[in-house]
This record gives sequence, C-alpha cells and structure tokens, in this order.
Amino acid sequence: MTRRLFDDVDRWARDAPGATAIHDTDNTVVTYGELGAWSNRVAHLLIELGVVPGDRVAISVPKGAAAIAAMLGAAKAGAAYVPIDPDSPLARIALVVEAAEPRVVIADPTAVATVMAADQAIDEVVVGTITQDAPTWPRPAAFTGADLARHDGASRPSVRWAADDLAHVLFTSGSTGVPKGVMITNANVFAFVDWAVEHFGYQPDDQLSGHSPLHFDLSTFDVFAAFAAGATLHPVPKRVNVNPKDLAAWIRERELTQWFSVPSALNHLVRYDDVLPGDFPSLRRLIWCGEVLPTPTLISLMTALPHAEFTNLYGPTEATIASSWYRVADTPADPTESVPIGRPCSGERLVVLRDDGSDADDEEIAELYIEGVGLSPGYWRDDDMTVQRFRTDLIDGRRLYRTGDLAWRRADGVVMFVGRVDSQIKSRGHRIELGEIETALSTVSILNDSAVVAIDVDHLDGAAICAAFTADEPIKPARLAKELSQLIPRYMLPHRWIQLDAMPKNVNGKIDRPVLRTAFEAAEEGAR
Ligand code: AMP
Repeated sequence: MTRRLFDDVDRWARDAPGATAIHDTDNTVVTYGELGAWSNRVAHLLIELGVVPGDRVAISVPKGAAAIAAMLGAAKAGAAYVPIDPDSPLARIALVVEAAEPRVVIADPTAVATVMAADQAIDEVVVGTITQDAPTWPRPAAFTGADLARHDGASRPSVRWAADDLAHVLFTSGSTGVPKGVMITNANVFAFVDWAVEHFGYQPDDQLSGHSPLHFDLSTFDVFAAFAAGATLHPVPKRVNVNPKDLAAWIRERELTQWFSVPSALNHLVRYDDVLPGDFPSLRRLIWCGEVLPTPTLISLMTALPHAEFTNLYGPTEATIASSWYRVADTPADPTESVPIGRPCSGERLVVLRDDGSDADDEEIAELYIEGVGLSPGYWRDDDMTVQRFRTDLIDGRRLYRTGDLAWRRADGVVMFVGRVDSQIKSRGHRIELGEIETALSTVSILNDSAVVAIDVDHLDGAAICAAFTADEPIKPARLAKELSQLIPRYMLPHRWIQLDAMPKNVNGKIDRPVLRTAFEAAEEGAR
C-alpha cells in the first residue's frame, strides 16, 4: 500500500503525540497529536462538503500550521491538494482555480475575499476558511473555523484509495501565459523524502527550516522530511525573511539543525555580513536547490560555519524536489569554480543527450534528461505538453523528462550545470517563464509592441527581467508595472524598462531578442 502524505504524522501522533511537529510563525507550537487531530477534522469537513477521492482541494493560506493541516486534511479526504500563493494577484489565482477545478477552496480570510471576487467560474466552487469564525467576505463563506470544530479529531475518515492517486498539483509559470500544473503522486514524494531521510540521517531532534512557500515544490521536502523523521518544522515567518539580520537571529533562536532554501536567501545573509564566525552552532546541514549558489557566497558560509555540511541539490518540479546531489566537502579555493549538481539520488538517472537523442560524450555540453522514480505522471490536463516534455521516443521506450537545462558529465560521472536552452529563468529563486510576463504585457492596450528578455546583473539574485515596448506616446514604466501587477505576481514584474521607437526584428521578422539583451546590457553598463 502506497504511503500517503499523512501517514507519518498519524504514526507520530500515535507513538509520540506530545512531540512538536510545527513551531509556527507566530511562535505557537503544534504537536504531532494536535496536527493529526486537526487534519482529521479538516478531512471530515471536506467530505461533508462533498469532496470525494480523486478531487482537488485548493489551499490559499499563508505558510504555517493551518495551511499544513489543510494539506494533510485534503490528503485524508482522498483529494490532491493544490497550493495557491495567497499573495498572487486576483487574475492569476482565478487562472489556477479555473484550471485545477477544485471541489473546495480553503483560504485565509484575506485570500478568500480575493478568490471569491476572482471570477464567475469560481462561483461554483465552495470557498471557506478553517482559521476564523466570522470574517467579512463578499459573499457568505461556505464554511468557517466553527464548522471545523464540530468535527471529530479522534479518527480519520475511511476513504478508498487508488494506487496512482495524486498527492498534489503544483502550478508553475507557463510560457503561454497560463500557469501549468505538475501532477505529483504520493510515490513521487516519498521516493525523494525516503532517500533524503536516509542520506542526511534525520532524527526526531532535528529542527528543520521551512523557507520555501508552500506552492513551491521545495517546501514538500521541508514538510514531509520533517514528518517522516518525527522532527520539528519551523516555517520561516515572512517578517523575518525580509531582513537578513532578523533571519540570522531567528535561525539562532530556533536552534535550527538544517537550513534548506534557494540561494537568494543565503546570498542575502552573506551580503549583509549577518553570519558570524562559528554562528548557528546547532546547524548540522546547509542545503540549497533551485539555482546556482554563487561560489563566493559558499566560501563565506563554509568559512563561517565549519561545523555544518554543505549540499547542493538539483532538480525540476517535474522530477519532484531534487534528482541529484553534491556534497561540497572542502571550501572551494577559487571563487570562480563551479559547484557540480552531482550524482543522481537513488532511483534516479541523469542522462545527457545530443539533439539527435544520442548520448553525449564526457565533457560534451548537451541537454539534460532525468529518468526515474521522481518523474511526475505529467502536466495537469495537458497531454500535448506532457508528450513533448516526458519523452518515451528517445531511448528504447524509456521515460525521460526533458529538463531544458544544459549540462556536461565529468569523467568521474559527476554532472555539471551550464544553463538553460529556453526562456525559463530564475529570479530570487522563483521559476519564471518570460513568456508569461510577455503574455501579460501584451494585454496592456496602450502598448503597440512589447517583449521581455533577461540579463545577468551583478547585484540582483538571478536574472534581471527587462521589458521593451513601443507606444504612440511616452509611457511611464510605473504605470505599466501597476497594470501588470494586477495580472502577475510581484516577483515577475520587470526590473528594467525601455521604450523604443520600433522593436528590432530579425530576418524572419521576429523580435530580435539578442539585440534587445545587448541594449539592456549597454544601459546597465552606462548606469554604473
Ligand atoms: P523548479 O521547478 O522551480 O525547481 O526549477 C527547476 C529548474 O531550476 C531546473 O531545471 C534548473 O534550471 C534550475 N535548478 C534547480 N536546481 C538547481 C541547482 N542546484 N543549480 C542550478 N540550477 C538549478
């Protein structure tokens, strides 16, 4: 029988009910016993609301114990949960809700108003909250915290499972402007989590950071590895995360044994000199994933924290959390040295293939494919995209995920990351398709033509998003940013803008993006 997302919590609720599962953002603690009971109540409520196995339950609740109880409750009701960023603009929440067709949306009081106001299509969806009793909403909530309290926390409902039930659907940026849903099974999650528990040797006394937002697949490592080990999860409060000094103080105060995040949080800590020599004495492991950690940052951290182990994880959402790992044993001597993405986690394979599908030689740069137990069944209701990215036509019918990453293999089998083949970028850890920003920009009626490119800029984490446009009159970028912020999340808003008389076109009449990139780079150079 496949393990389910809630099984570990229920096991600890039985065996160690008083152990702390979550030390929450507001400093309250939730024990395994309480989390087990809370999620049982959510499951009973969801079933009363009509949720049946195979349904989706969308969750738009800020990161913390309530959101996690909702995720576990959805799983206990037999549904796949769909985490939605409560900070997303209304239009994007509507797109995700429309695509996911959840039976129920669990939202927090501010997000619920957003969800309800979002679109007529959502009028059909049952929206409510489990954290408050009587908030003011645009229309009456279908359920509130009082409804939750009516339900029994002692046992979970009995539900009929299917072996291939989904654990969750994670929506990431889509190049056509519509976020795309990656379907993840319970088996996908535990393939990685069980590898990690063994590899890193988690213990019940481990204190794990919860840095990634819950709609980002890295968060499932924090949450489900903590629960697998009976350890304590510490979701990082938003107010702490914005200030590196506060973040460092919080890591000290919580006596974390593991920090796991995208590199930008680490760059931030190092840039403001907030990590002191010998700091964070409880820290056993520092792990990053999602993009390249600049080697100078790594050198600073390894020098300050000689007691911790440093590991780079690599992998896309489509292959569940991470597919390869590399432990950096010694502080790099050279700040220009690249850190490998390493070797596959157990049950995974990294395959570097040329355009014609043949194996690349050692040290030859080509596209990276992933094969193995982490591979998602595909994109939510998008068979064409699934066939394009999850390839069975390349090597003897084997199923390989085409990452869009360029890589090369060293002679010792260790894999090195080079960059992307397409216009997917990372900006402060967020995965962004430039096409999604372009699609949003193209709906701004005062513009004649527009395009979005990315360039590397020294002081920004990841790429700088640059938008070029033409219009009949001079337009202030602030006006465009305001319009765009109704459509896309803040982290997708362009950092640089140029108004042009005409868009540069290549011989095929298409927008000449290399020319645009050069123009933005020149402007950047000039501004120094
Ligand atoms: P996401 O689905 O948000 O995890 O983004 C996946 C993409 O992030 C990968 O295809 C890579 O382009 C990039 N990525 C993930 N981990 C790393 C890493 N350790 N080093 C460099 N790039 C990474």
